Amino acid sequence: MDWLNYCRICDALCGLNGDLSGESSDLISAGYSCTEAQKEELDRILIPRKKYGQECSWDEALNGISEQLKKHHPSIGLYLSSEIGRSSADLFQSLAFGVSYGTKHIFSDQGLHYGPLLNIVEHMVGYPTPLLSDLSRTHYAVLLGEDPEQLHWGAHQLGQSYGERLQHSRKVRKTKVVTAHSRPYSWSSGVDLHLNLRPGTEPFFLLGLLKVSIDKDWVDSQYIRDYTRGYREVVELLKPWTLERCAAICGLTPSELSGVALKFSRAAMALIHPGPGFFLNKNGSLGGWAWMALHMISANALRPGGIYENEGGVDLHPFLISLPSKEAPRIDEVPLQLMQASVGQLRSTLERKELKALLIAGDLPLSMESQALKDQLKALDLLVVASHRSSWLTEIADWTLPMAHPWEKSDRVLHRSSSLPVKALPYTKQYRALPKDAKRWSDILQELHRCWKPSGFSSSEWGAHFRWIARGLASRSAVSWIEQGLDLLKENIDKKPGLWYEGESDRSLWRPKDERLDFAPKLLKELLDKLSVPQYRSDFPLYLQVAYPVPRAREEHPQVVIHPTHQKAAQEMINISTPHGSVCAEVILSTEVRKDTVITNAHPIFSELLCGAYERFSGNPILWGEQCRID
Ligand code: SF4
Repeated sequence: MDWLNYCRICDALCGLNGDLSGESSDLISAGYSCTEAQKEELDRILIPRKKYGQECSWDEALNGISEQLKKHHPSIGLYLSSEIGRSSADLFQSLAFGVSYGTKHIFSDQGLHYGPLLNIVEHMVGYPTPLLSDLSRTHYAVLLGEDPEQLHWGAHQLGQSYGERLQHSRKVRKTKVVTAHSRPYSWSSGVDLHLNLRPGTEPFFLLGLLKVSIDKDWVDSQYIRDYTRGYREVVELLKPWTLERCAAICGLTPSELSGVALKFSRAAMALIHPGPGFFLNKNGSLGGWAWMALHMISANALRPGGIYENEGGVDLHPFLISLPSKEAPRIDEVPLQLMQASVGQLRSTLERKELKALLIAGDLPLSMESQALKDQLKALDLLVVASHRSSWLTEIADWTLPMAHPWEKSDRVLHRSSSLPVKALPYTKQYRALPKDAKRWSDILQELHRCWKPSGFSSSEWGAHFRWIARGLASRSAVSWIEQGLDLLKENIDKKPGLWYEGESDRSLWRPKDERLDFAPKLLKELLDKLSVPQYRSDFPLYLQVAYPVPRAREEHPQVVIHPTHQKAAQEMINISTPHGSVCAEVILSTEVRKDTVITNAHPIFSELLCGAYERFSGNPILWGEQCRID
């Protein structure tokens, strides 16, 4: 088979047939396809438009935009939505375009999940690499963050092979599954233990597990001695973080935490899987550190059955080690990860008026949509939105460009999944015809670069050599230079035309800096010093969990899920307030949620309850753990 079709609406990249049904031969999605994929594309943009909806030709749009870009260079920014990140050609063309312009303001939502992980792994392993959870072989799995089944999105829904394999392992290998979240997972009958965790306290949950494991000596001393450094320092630094203190912050009992820690340490292969939302709190980076440290004390780091490095279809190691965040440009002291800043920093950059022009490809996450952001975007000299559908962004854009839907372009996905044990280098085929006037994002950028005709180099944080290379790449189609690059590597890769699945990673792959994993990188002290500990507030006694920004999940009515003890009736309209704002929403009652928790649906109004703050080490927006009240 030369080509395969993938849905590229979300990270699951399910294999689809021509009639949108799931492709049963796909080894990961196993015939699954979700309702998101079936939704019709409404309000399709078909022709370039100027401000106020006036239609124009591509030539007029590209020339008009490039004239303004020249004027505002280098105070321009790019925002790349997640659908751009799932297309290697569109992503690399964007990075080449941004660097050649000399701007460091390349924002994306890749950081919502992987940014803090890449950052902390870089400090502890020595280079940034997305470590995968080997969920299909582990003996003890602790799942944190959102339930993909409830989200109706993601790679880990029931019916997909991950869910099936985990259930199979439970039966055959007696694998134990623990979930820790603000409400039980929808498949709670398939888990052995659920802990109702206060939203936003996930890092303290892991800190508590770590502390009790160290105190009770539930650690693998030989692994710590032979493969790590800095353990003693960590023992000292964690002294103030007693099990009891961590458990109280999480709203759990100490014995609940110590029970999980004991079983985690005793399992032959164990892992903690940080699901969607895990990093969207005030201490996400510390959570990432504790996650890595727990796998290190139990000898489950960088090994099958635990968390491990998957080479992917192409071993990205040489590329990744060339992009350490130490030398990367910074925004607000947060280093760019894989040449991108987290979307959480977009608002602060706009607030400081560092941008005059912004090019947006796709949609911003729902949780960013606020009146404050709208006003900041309107104040820009140039706002260009390339999208396949109309939205609040296209309403305020100076130029709207019709962009290809993910199914209307062919792609090679260099790293198909960063959350499943898959090695793949798949081509995916253009699934349906491109509407007459729409273009893929990489082509739009290439044409803008051609209109811009850059000459000379002013200094930038990327350095002259890097910019020179980027300029050459930006002038050509990334589709062709990726293929040529892979041809050059053909000695080292198996460039099979379709899928190449391999559940095993290379067991001999072990390449941390100095052959040791570092428990106590310099960043750790700062993470602990600047830890934000939730304090009980009588004026805001509840904890808010704003819905994870799922693609296309916009709900029509704002709703919140609360416990019946609040004496509210189902469907009653109530006010939810935080120190930053107040909104009105309809009540859904559930005895399964914590009594001190308010969970929102995916409606943009809830962003008014957030202050637009981001986690200081990763730049991720903070969506979980804001203190609130209901009236
Ligand atoms: S889970 Fe994601 S990739 Fe799979 S069909 Fe749904 S939207 Fe597409």
